[in-house]
Amino acid sequence: MDVPAALQPYVRTAWLPETAEEDGPRTASKLGGTAWIPADETWPACPNCGRSLQLLLQLNPDDLPEAVRGEVGEGLVQLFYCTSQDPLCEVDCEAFFPFSASVVARRVVPDGEGSEAVPDLADPFPPRRVVGWRPVDDLPVPEDAPELSLPDEVWDEVYRHGLVERDKLAGWPTWIQGPERPACPRCGTEMRVVFQIVSDDTLPILFGDMGTGHLTRCPEHADVLTFGWACT
Ligand SMILES: [Zn+2]
Ligand SMILES: [Zn+2]
Repeated sequence: MDVPAALQPYVRTAWLPETAEEDGPRTASKLGGTAWIPADETWPACPNCGRSLQLLLQLNPDDLPEAVRGEVGEGLVQLFYCTSQDPLCEVDCEAFFPFSASVVARRVVPDGEGSEAVPDLADPFPPRRVVGWRPVDDLPVPEDAPELSLPDEVWDEVYRHGLVERDKLAGWPTWIQGPERPACPRCGTEMRVVFQIVSDDTLPILFGDMGTGHLTRCPEHADVLTFGWACT
């Protein structure tokens, strides 16, 4: 879309993952696949069903565009999610809300080879290793630019053509039910979105009815991360 002058200062770069159908090293940036696990740990499991969690995302700052490395911090960012349908852990554990028991969002600093743990999943997602990042211009939803007064037609156009409703690093979050930035449980600071995962983009996952999820991080505490999603 032609971005109106008033919106131009709000244009941010979002980075779309370009992926190959392979797992790659345990420390690689990837969606799905095998994560680096500390030597003294087992693969993360769900407290509700006891099964392995599915790795949704691992980000290694070495693989990221330089402009956003600081947002991710040192070490690997990992997001694991219970995909069990019976029991339906997503609902039992309210995985749409931040800090759900059936979701693990964490930072680990790789140290040596790590564990040989692999997930025990009947139907794991095919691994997709991130091999590049494609920059695109991204725009906010109106709730993220409350100081801007633009006609409804402009926002309609932003909704139609300006939002990047894809899996993406940085940029503006595409909120479905308005902004959801949790407060850090340690310091109360509003957490910042690191990565957006939409239903059925890179991963064959559906968050409710084609929902969109966000991995957030405390700007003060690199090891405080969480995930939540919303659908229409
Ligand atoms: Zn579960
Ligand atoms: Zn904090």
